[in-house]
Amino acid sequence: WENVKKVDPEIYDVILNEWERQEYGLELIASENFTSLAVIEAMGSVLTNKYAEGYPGRRYYGGCEWVDVAEKLARDRAKELFNVKYANVQPHSGSQANMGAYFAVSEPKDTIMGMSLSHGGHLTHGASVNFSGRIYNVVPYGVDPETEVINYDMVRDLAIKHKPKIIIAGGSAYSRIIDFKKFREIADEIGAYLIVDMAHFAGLVAAGLYPNPAEYAHIVTSTTHKTLRGPRGGMILTNDKEIYKAINKSIFPGIQGGPLMHVIAAKAVCFKEALTEEFKEYQKQVVKNAKKLAEELEKRGLRIVSGGTDTHLMLVDLNPLNVTGKAAEIALGKCHITVNKNTIPNETRSPFVASGIRLGTPALTTRGMKEAEMEEIAELIVTVLKNVKDEEGNVSDDIVEKVQNNVKDLCKRFPLYEGK
Ligand code: PLP
Repeated sequence: WENVKKVDPEIYDVILNEWERQEYGLELIASENFTSLAVIEAMGSVLTNKYAEGYPGRRYYGGCEWVDVAEKLARDRAKELFNVKYANVQPHSGSQANMGAYFAVSEPKDTIMGMSLSHGGHLTHGASVNFSGRIYNVVPYGVDPETEVINYDMVRDLAIKHKPKIIIAGGSAYSRIIDFKKFREIADEIGAYLIVDMAHFAGLVAAGLYPNPAEYAHIVTSTTHKTLRGPRGGMILTNDKEIYKAINKSIFPGIQGGPLMHVIAAKAVCFKEALTEEFKEYQKQVVKNAKKLAEELEKRGLRIVSGGTDTHLMLVDLNPLNVTGKAAEIALGKCHITVNKNTIPNETRSPFVASGIRLGTPALTTRGMKEAEMEEIAELIVTVLKNVKDEEGNVSDDIVEKVQNNVKDLCKRFPLYEGK
């Protein structure tokens, strides 16, 4: 970053400090990952200079011959990776992928049905503060209060009662495998479109460790930066030609202008990486690590929502240790362990306080950590949580120092970008 250093020392400092935070902290946020340097280089390239409204071969600007190659590669690789006929790789984000997908098959004021935010859905699945909640009539579904997993009979009853135009499956804090076949049967029964948002588990799908939603859904949306380990961005997949045409229109000119060609090139790099055997092995380890971390936390007295995980993430109920999600997030943060507070099923606290934390293993697994490290990390987490003094997440200085040192040692054993 020599040029940034010369031109803008303040931003140079931000980059260095953030690099150091990532290099020497334990990243347990389930939606984050560390991309390869190849992905970062593609994003930081001259492709950022190019306007390319439209699609390959049908652009509104001249000079698109090279960015066309990049977009076609990204599309073809996405299709191969997820075994689908059509891919739109232009959405700037997961939220825009969802907006593009909804707009392709519905009209404002239609009814949509998605998992509620408090039960693990995403903002864009119908939260009142989001475009989805403002534009559509929303019928939320949740998890079964007893089992804490999706109850398909309850989903079906709601669908029959409210006849939504779209049913959305997928979420941000749901750790179990979703039965897409059942969702499709429910959608077919009432003539609804099934949209699966696989943002969280796309990497697992790519590696064959999670059922491929494209086999059942009319449309599949995703981010590219979570388990998939690519640049920040979104994509939309389908096997239906007419729906594909509608998706293309709804993304451009519907809701976006010029595509981010540097990001699309980086998506192509990410998909190429995701097609390798090494990536499959990586995803297998992500799941093994999540299971091990959940087990070790349980052994130490915490409760894992729904009794465990099938994926890269878990929801941890902190009530057994009498700590709130807010206090846990702050306390762990002081010790350089990054997590996010999260509501749990049957939540009694506000979302700003919450009774749980969400943990995920994609980022730590990218560093090369395995089951033995998950055990060490569970011990560190519980040490901190047992020493939280108050609602503000205060922890004594000696605990903070001790855990910070352990975290640093662990990170040094598994360097991220250091020396590369
Ligand atoms: N869909 C799901 C399931 C997500 O978890 C997220 C982000 O956390 C999104 C969509 C939105 O992605 P973005 O933050 O890129 O808009």
